[in-house]
Amino acid sequence: VLCIGLTLVIVNLLLALYAKGAFQNLILRDLRRELQLSLPEPDGAMIKRLSSLEVELQHLKESIKLALKQQEHVNSTVQRATDIQKAVKSKSSEPRKHTARVKLFPHSGLFKQWGDDLSETQQRKAQDLFQEFGYNVYLSNQLPLNRTLPDTRDPRCLQKTYSSQLPSLSVILIFVNEALSVIERAITSIINRTPSPLLKEIILVDDFSSNGELKVYLDEKIKVYNQKYPGLLKIIRHTERKGLAQARNTGWEAATADVVAILDAHIEVTIGWAEPILARIQEDRTVIVSPVFEKIHFDTFKLERYGVAVDGFNWQLWCRYDTVPQDWIDLHDVTAPIKSPSIMGILAANRLFLGEIGSLDGGMLVYGGENVELSLRVWQCGGKIEILPCSRIAHLERHHKPYALDLTPALKRNALRVAEVWMDEYKHMVYLAWNIPLQNSGIDYGDISSRMALREKLKCKTFDWYLKNVYPLLTPIRSIVGYGTMKNSLDKNVCLDMGPVPGNTPIMYNCHAFSPQQVYYLLTGELYMGPLIAEANADDRCLTDPGSGEEPSLEPCSKAVKKGLHIYWDFKPGTDQKKATGYET
Ligand code: UDP
Ligand code: MN
Repeated sequence: VLCIGLTLVIVNLLLALYAKGAFQNLILRDLRRELQLSLPEPDGAMIKRLSSLEVELQHLKESIKLALKQQEHVNSTVQRATDIQKAVKSKSSEPRKHTARVKLFPHSGLFKQWGDDLSETQQRKAQDLFQEFGYNVYLSNQLPLNRTLPDTRDPRCLQKTYSSQLPSLSVILIFVNEALSVIERAITSIINRTPSPLLKEIILVDDFSSNGELKVYLDEKIKVYNQKYPGLLKIIRHTERKGLAQARNTGWEAATADVVAILDAHIEVTIGWAEPILARIQEDRTVIVSPVFEKIHFDTFKLERYGVAVDGFNWQLWCRYDTVPQDWIDLHDVTAPIKSPSIMGILAANRLFLGEIGSLDGGMLVYGGENVELSLRVWQCGGKIEILPCSRIAHLERHHKPYALDLTPALKRNALRVAEVWMDEYKHMVYLAWNIPLQNSGIDYGDISSRMALREKLKCKTFDWYLKNVYPLLTPIRSIVGYGTMKNSLDKNVCLDMGPVPGNTPIMYNCHAFSPQQVYYLLTGELYMGPLIAEANADDRCLTDPGSGEEPSLEPCSKAVKKGLHIYWDFKPGTDQKKATGYET
């Protein structure tokens, strides 16, 4: 538009000049005619000027013609460019129409990072498998069984040398409703990455899977493996669901090698994983070891390296990672074994020693607790637990479990079993953390008499010894005099609640009694809110009167003490007090 405008201005100017020139010509001609009579003939100079004027006019005419031509050219170029642009646009939008897939399951965890280019049928298939197994079976079925994994060990691990006379190894893989390709990838990684003279057997334990693929197909696969590696693979099938502790025990009972490594079936061992385990157990038969886990993402199957940490647990006996102890750091040897309060589940041990201390508690149901039970037993009864930083196993972290919708009942029940057998005068902490009454909890934790007898037989130390010598981070609270939820006495459906997260303003909310509504009242007057932490390096949250404004707040207790905030509540259950405060517990 600017070009056209400018051109028109120029054309007008030129036309004006041209018109002016022509006008001058006319005047001159008329003048000449008139002057012919009265004026003398124009002289040579005048004729020259006039003819040069004519030449200039001629130039102007040509320039206008040229300008018009150029404008035409510009216009056509612009048109061509616009046409090309249009063409490019329509071309580039064409393939997009074909690749932009409709996301059928936009809220599914599976498709957050993965699966953009899947057709609708493929998405449906992948989603079905995901729901059934809790991870990306669709992708697993396409990945090679012998895929390469990065070597995540510290380079100093590679400098280590091991005896040529290491003990033999039985690897136990337990599973329930696992994808066949995942089990096969575990087997392949074990065969490829364990020195073959040391690998005596791989024992599969099926805890009563319902998945058809794991029956005839798996048996056929085992036959094929055994043709290539005679006698290497064994399978034992439970005829009813017995839970993970019993599945591990079944594997242990069938094992025959010097050392057993008891693993989940959704793992891939990494290069050099076995040697540090076998060497350490050869050195000390009373040590139960755990490799370091790496994370296999449930959706992309990519490996994520985890830093070195030790395995601990909270008062609900739910597992967690803790920082490595200072005395290990002071060693300045990143390859050295690390003393650990607990294991996560996966373990390796001298086969006979594991039997002597009572393998796993077969009274544990479904999932959870068995790892803490073994850990307390090992430490309290004369063994040790260590993490070996040079042994690394990649573990598939599921999105959800294929065998239970809610693990809480099993976790709670199994935790009480551990508390009753091993935790002496500290067992109340487990009840408090789960918000269960100390008496008549209504939870059947099964028969513990044989485990008590075992404790007697092994002459085990107390839990107090364990806390002081092995896990000082876990700090019991002795002075809790009341716990539960705090109801409003005017409307018992309304409870004190931690309030929105993030935030530290408690609110009144419909009672649900989950952990945000748990309160703990201490003899000293503090009111803790929320899940009980009770750890050396972390604070519980204290219900606080900030002294100004109308809203209470939740503050880390030690910070509140330092600042001199009001955290001590004069609270006595009973009718009078109920009237005074409007609350009851
Ligand atoms: N498992 C079992 N029986 C059960 C529950 C679990 O054999 O009733 C197995 C499960 O197949 C897995 C292992 O126990 O190999 C540990 O369970 P999971 O992997 O679900 O726990 P996570 O590793 O996520 O803690
Ligand atoms: Mn697992």
